[in-house]
Amino acid sequence: MCGNNRQFTVHSNQVSIDSCNVWVECDCGYDPTSEGHGDRLEDVWGGIDNYTTLAALYCWNDAIGC
Ligand SMILES: [Zn+2]
Repeated sequence: MCGNNRQFTVHSNQVSIDSCNVWVECDCGYDPTSEGHGDRLEDVWGGIDNYTTLAALYCWNDAIGC
């Protein structure tokens, strides 16, 4: 299991008409939130900015059990 959360890319994907998921993936491709969508940040616009990136990182840490 990869514990890196410093080098990552942020992804955003629309999951319904008024909801997007924002999540981060490690550079190596590891994504602990891929198992369940509940682990990903839900955002109306799915914009990638400081706020959603930090919130997605929080979800990342949650998903790996930090
Ligand atoms: Zn990694």
